[in-house]
Amino acid sequence: MNCLFCKIVAGEIPSTKVYEDETILAFRDIAPQAPTHILVIPKEHIPSVDGVTPENKAVVAHIFETIPAIAAAEKLTGGYRVVSNCGPDAGQTVNHLHFHILGGRVLNTQMT
Ligand code: 5GP
Ligand code: ZN
Repeated sequence: MNCLFCKIVAGEIPSTKVYEDETILAFRDIAPQAPTHILVIPKEHIPSVDGVTPENKAVVAHIFETIPAIAAAEKLTGGYRVVSNCGPDAGQTVNHLHFHILGGRVLNTQMT
């Protein structure tokens, strides 16, 4: 499968990892939009939020239970934002489910 993030999981494309376990990986975004900009992904290929199912939902819950630990390790004591773009209208550019963690500065309150 020609998926950029599957290649990062496989180690075929280098990344700056900040967290890894058996089922998920977190690494720094190549084009950071905040002082801290991390992507958290399931190691298995799920195309987007639309691809979450009863069979794979546990890995999504695991991502969300791990995000606070990543934020704490990054010292995002003032808070942070978690974003997942789903589909073209949201600007999803990589079709492998990922959650952006953004922090390290005061973020715009506008969601759009
Ligand atoms: P999306 O636009 O799909 O929500 O987010 C995709 C993100 O992946 C973007 O923020 C983009 O900067 C990041 N990205 C794209 N290619 C690479 C890459 O090769 N390495 C890393 N670390 N991030 C990437
Ligand atoms: Zn993939």
